[in-house]
Amino acid sequence: MYPYRPESMIADEFINDDEILQTIQFANENKHNVELIDSLLEKARPKKKGNGVVCAGLTHREASVLLACDIPEKTEEMFRLANEIKQAYYGNRIVMFAPLYLSNYCINGCVYCPYHTVNKSIPRKKLTQEEVRNEVIALQDMGHKRLAIEAGEDPVNNPIEYILECIKTIYSVHHKNGDIRRVNVNIAATTVENYKKLKDAGIGTYILFQETYNKKSYLELHPTGPKHDYNYHTEAMDRAMEGGIDDVGLGVLFGLEGYQYEFAGLLMHAEHLEAVHGVGPHTISVPRVKKADDIDPGVFDNGLSDDKFAKIIACIRIAVPYTGMIISTRESEAVRGRVLDYGISQISGASRTSVGGYTEAERPHDTEQFDVSDNRSLDEVVRWLMENDHIPSFCTACYREGRTGDRFMALCKNGQILNCCHPNALMTLSEYLEDYASEETKKIGYELIEQELKKIPHDNVRRIATENIEAIRSSDRRDFRF
Ligand code: SAM
Repeated sequence: MYPYRPESMIADEFINDDEILQTIQFANENKHNVELIDSLLEKARPKKKGNGVVCAGLTHREASVLLACDIPEKTEEMFRLANEIKQAYYGNRIVMFAPLYLSNYCINGCVYCPYHTVNKSIPRKKLTQEEVRNEVIALQDMGHKRLAIEAGEDPVNNPIEYILECIKTIYSVHHKNGDIRRVNVNIAATTVENYKKLKDAGIGTYILFQETYNKKSYLELHPTGPKHDYNYHTEAMDRAMEGGIDDVGLGVLFGLEGYQYEFAGLLMHAEHLEAVHGVGPHTISVPRVKKADDIDPGVFDNGLSDDKFAKIIACIRIAVPYTGMIISTRESEAVRGRVLDYGISQISGASRTSVGGYTEAERPHDTEQFDVSDNRSLDEVVRWLMENDHIPSFCTACYREGRTGDRFMALCKNGQILNCCHPNALMTLSEYLEDYASEETKKIGYELIEQELKKIPHDNVRRIATENIEAIRSSDRRDFRF
């Protein structure tokens, strides 16, 4: 039996099965302990400090009690608190991105993924550099500035050199006023040496979903291929950080295992990163398993209701207040709309999950990784966000200004990020409105920008942001950022 040690570099010790089982037991025993629940809500509430606010966050045990609690009024209080924390750190900004599928060649046997090696019905495809360029032009023409590249694991068809070449191509494309300013990477666990190469290629966040933290289930769900090695996969973020990548993104594929187990494991992983590297995850993604070629999500009997899903998101926001949270088009407009208020800070728009999907007029299904539930265009998503009082942001400034890892977290923790992110969001939104938006979206966008500029507390910052937006409107592109 392994001891629980968050500072250990061994997966079985920092994601400790015994500790998770005891946590779930403790949470279930205390789910009606109103005194404890109230004290946890109070502990997690944003507190004024100097000019800003600070949040204490919660441990995996504490947050698990909140998740287990089924008292309706307390759950409502959790939703309100998650919203309060979100407003304190992220305001009403939502960062936009799109996935770009490079290759669906894969040698793993993940039973929930249509790219698994024994799926003989799915066509295999890998983009050439010319095709990457065309996909990027299509994405730039929609208005995207931030991508997450995706690929199966196949050292022969998609070696690291191929991924690096694609990143170089992506950054080199400048179509009309477009450019991709941040490439996040979601590829299989790899070596410190390869993480160094990704870092040198200028990637933003390295994203790797754990899929499930339950080792026994993990081994069954990944029966063959390199991904079968639970410890190698779980320890990947430590290697990424050793390779110099400051921003790492965690995630669980909800539906594979019991959600209480995954929730505790995810927070323990965040605690481990904080304990070892002094900085927690940059983002947490919350995908749910979806229908796909050769995959029926019904075979996984841990499906989550929308209510439980929303509560998980709220409890993550309460537990790790400084970590960005990402939701993809796996979720419908209705679900996305609801959880935006509980702590989501990044969403994808107009996604195609097939290899080469953006250059096709109709959404192709042949090489698709999963079925998309939100099929709206980027313009529709942007307008919808603004109609619901969110500010769509195309900002990539932190990364380009070197505000990553602990530098980003330090700014975020003292609330200073608001002085950069809010005006940057407005300036990049203005770029979007000028270059890509429909007339209706543009009208709503400039009304919103006008209101939001007035909220900038510092005169100097407000003046510079206003001047830059005026310049953008008169086609003077300055690429200015705070
Ligand atoms: N091959 C890399 C890896 O193994 O981590 C990249 C991952 S894949 C392109 C992106 C993610 O899609 C996976 O980590 C998995 O969580 C998710 N995914 C796979 N099958 C899915 C399904 N049927 N429904 C929803 N998400 C799925």
